[in-house]
Amino acid sequence: MGVQNRVALVTGSGSGLGETTVMMLAQNGAKVVVNDVDQAKVDKVVKKIKSAGGEALGVAADISKKDQVQDLVQKIVKQFGTVDILVNNAGIARDKGLLKITEEDWDIVLDVNLKGPFLLSQTVVPYMKERKFGRIVNISSRAYLGWPTQANYASSKGGLVSFSRTLALELAKHQITVNCIAPGLIQTPLYDALPDNIKENLMKSQPTKTIGKPEDIGYGVLFFADDEADYVTGQTIFICGGKSVLSSLSV
Ligand code: NAP
Repeated sequence: MGVQNRVALVTGSGSGLGETTVMMLAQNGAKVVVNDVDQAKVDKVVKKIKSAGGEALGVAADISKKDQVQDLVQKIVKQFGTVDILVNNAGIARDKGLLKITEEDWDIVLDVNLKGPFLLSQTVVPYMKERKFGRIVNISSRAYLGWPTQANYASSKGGLVSFSRTLALELAKHQITVNCIAPGLIQTPLYDALPDNIKENLMKSQPTKTIGKPEDIGYGVLFFADDEADYVTGQTIFICGGKSVLSSLSV
């Protein structure tokens, strides 16, 4: 039941949604792996989990680099024996209009948001196959439906949905599920730092007139990662206060 004693890796869990998610997995009895590029962020979250009585390993690694992904997974296998739950959460944005996006802006966003989940999935799936159990949860974005100034970001997040649907079909016979979460507006330090007029405009297009909490995403991950969720695969759930229903009408 639940995620008890499962080994769960959450990429980019040194801050934001990943941090909340990894803490919630630990609170629910998973052995968790905290990953981020910055060692100090990793150490801070591992300390929080351990002081709350959880079990955690911290590994700093850039998930867009194959050698670092392989090293990350080897360290997890050495400590915990396997990876049962992979949450591909690390993501970045370089928002600009089409004519201003540089080749570097395009490459880095696609590398972190799409190539990273590919490298991680390819590296952990052999362990999941061996144990005939696996849960892969990919953090996409409501923005994959389309949003001005996000051509690179939205493409990476749309690619992640296609990637998840395809892997779901390939891996279903191995009892490995692959699903996506597409968050909308969520209260993170990034949102808090926005000017008030932009926050007001964003709120106008929210059907609920509220902003999501990082825990809303964590609950979605717990649902897909659950031992009992073995008949749910290839799905994308929008956690966005209903904004996906409006689509891009408010642009
Ligand atoms: P965040 O606070 O910036 O957290 C993402 C973490 O990933 C950061 O600590 C970041 O480190 C790390 N990271 C970046 N590149 C990495 C790499 N190559 N390898 C390992 N870690 C890396 O962002 P967030 O708002 O929590 O977003 C988490 C995920 O949700 C992302 O995929 C994002 O696209 C998605 N999302 C968020 C929202 C929202 O409203 N917050 C909405 C829709 C989708 P640095 O800070 O050092 O770069």
